Amino acid sequence: NSDTALYHAKERGRNNLELFAPVMTRQVSDRLLLEGRLREALKRGEFELYYQPQYDFAHNRLTDCEALIRWNSPEGMVMPDTFIPLAEETGLIVPIGAWVLQEACRQGEAWNRVSVEPLSVAVNVSAVQFRPALVSEVQAALDETGFDACLLVLEVTESVLMSDIEGSVQLLQELRELGVRVALDDFGTGYASLAYLKRFVLDKLKIDRAFIMGIPDDKDDVAITSSIIDIARNLNIMTVAEGVETEAHCAFLRKAGCNLAQGYYFDKPLPAEEFMRRLQ
Ligand code: C2E
Ligand code: MG
Ligand code: MG
Ligand code: MG
Repeated sequence: NSDTALYHAKERGRNNLELFAPVMTRQVSDRLLLEGRLREALKRGEFELYYQPQYDFAHNRLTDCEALIRWNSPEGMVMPDTFIPLAEETGLIVPIGAWVLQEACRQGEAWNRVSVEPLSVAVNVSAVQFRPALVSEVQAALDETGFDACLLVLEVTESVLMSDIEGSVQLLQELRELGVRVALDDFGTGYASLAYLKRFVLDKLKIDRAFIMGIPDDKDDVAITSSIIDIARNLNIMTVAEGVETEAHCAFLRKAGCNLAQGYYFDKPLPAEEFMRRLQ
């Protein structure tokens, strides 16, 4: 329980992984400390992007990937779910997000210089970053790295778009005018209705892992997943299945006409060097 956790945190001192307990249960002093550590981490270059391959069902080829941030803290690797929420609350996600964009574009450009087939790179964009200034941040990352805009995918969630519908429609349009593509992440878990698939001009839908998990035994998950794939196909939107973990998931998705698969069945998120070996 939280008393015990706090006791252990005090007992062991502040310089250990207790600092990375969930944001909700963290003490104010711990939050301030973690905020300071995040700020330092950016300056010291402790963030790293891992890349998880996405495979195209039609050609059985690695065509896309998603960049996922990791923090190599002095106490070990810290996962994004642990620090992104606090980075969002404190606004630190803005400089961290700008770094992610730059780094993903730099790496994407380097890979595409040596790769025969084009490789797209997807970047997660938080609600705090999704504002008019994002357009110039994306433009700057493209300009400074020379990365081809059409190979950059921005992943946003339903709740990001729904919080200001008119603003989102406008911003999505400006982003797509830069030539970048937009994916709706974790689709099916938010509260966007199907009508918004028409309002928001999207290139890709990522079907949330929660639905893929139930395939093929859960009849509801099967129905929901195949319906999403059908609707997306009719709207000319590509589908990406998240959390593909088994042969059965794969067989079903291929048959249902899903375009891309991402998950542990193929690869975990990989450090850049390992990803490069996969690419080759
Ligand atoms: P997400 O964008 O939905 O990313 C997918 C998450 O599912 C990743 O977790 C990935 O490692 C995990 N995953 C992939 N395949 C499988 C699988 O087969 N099974 C299971 N159980 N999990 C799988 P990760 O890397 O811990 O990232 C968690 C979340 O943190 C991401 O969810 C995204 O919302 C956020 N995030 C990651 N990197 C960034 C970033 O650079 N900026 C922002 N704003 N958010 C980020
Ligand atoms: Mg994502
Ligand atoms: Mg997702
Ligand atoms: Mg997610």
